[in-house]
Amino acid sequence: MTKTVSVVKAIHDSDLERVLERLGLYERLIRGELRCAICGRPLTLENLGGLYRENGEVKLVCNRIECLVEAAERVRRSRRLRA
Ligand SMILES: [Zn+2]
Repeated sequence: MTKTVSVVKAIHDSDLERVLERLGLYERLIRGELRCAICGRPLTLENLGGLYRENGEVKLVCNRIECLVEAAERVRRSRRLRA
């Protein structure tokens, strides 16, 4: 479990805000326009769990363990497809 989640957690905390700004997503997050790509609940800085890339698109997930695990699984799957 710990190992799976670490994929998503790799960019967390202070780095995460910087990454979001670079992607132009920070403002949208603050305005409450972003939702978890897995469960669909609105995201804030408080419940943002991480982000991942799928089909070249950046997806955000909340901090529920189910969503983090699912996100890590999708990352793993898309990597396997490309390999
Ligand atoms: Zn979620």
